[in-house]
Amino acid sequence: MKGRKLLMIPGPIEFEPEVLQAMGMATTSHVAPNFIEVFGHSLELMREVWKSPNCQPFIVAGTGTLAMDMAAANLIEEKDRVLVISSGYFGKRFKDILDRYGAKTTILEAPLGEVVPLEAIEKELKAKQYKALTITHVDTSTGILVDPKPIAKLAQKYNTISILDGVCSVAGEAINQDEWGLDVVLTGSQKAIGVPPGLALLMVSEKAMGV
Ligand SMILES: *Cc1c(COP(=O)(O)O)cnc(C)c1O
Repeated sequence: MKGRKLLMIPGPIEFEPEVLQAMGMATTSHVAPNFIEVFGHSLELMREVWKSPNCQPFIVAGTGTLAMDMAAANLIEEKDRVLVISSGYFGKRFKDILDRYGAKTTILEAPLGEVVPLEAIEKELKAKQYKALTITHVDTSTGILVDPKPIAKLAQKYNTISILDGVCSVAGEAINQDEWGLDVVLTGSQKAIGVPPGLALLMVSEKAMGV
């Protein structure tokens, strides 16, 4: 790979030889029987990576931002209250997307380099009925890692749908979606999943599917 720039961001990442090899294979039809098999296998593999045998996987052509948009478009209606727990730039992006769908958003912003305290989150959830809350697992702009477990617990306690932006974390940080009780965990293909950009990936709980 002489003459190639080494890109050292969370993604698009440098590809493993197997991925480069697969990219060199002949294209198959998107309606061919073997494509259906590969697609089904990929959905099964997502359940393993997310540690979520019970959730519904989605693979849609698009970006991580599309995955965020899909969560908002499918779960949020005008005037629904959504709590955005932000630890950097991507938290604010989620607020912008939700606002576009007419959500009534409240943003809890951590000071630079810190996380929003659990007490502040519980105080908000206690004060108003929120339909959903969003968490950025790792905010790429600050490098801050948030522990989603206790926040998902709070979301369950207050009957709120939990949405995790895992674009910078899925397949890089530990995720146990079912055990932790997260309703939506989303990412894009070009970060720790380690394949080219172009796929929005979401895992959706039965509860969120119902909504
Ligand atoms: C990269 C990233 C996104 C956006 O993903 P795109 O595929 O660039 O749209 C969203 N959230 C986080 C935390 C990210 O790191």
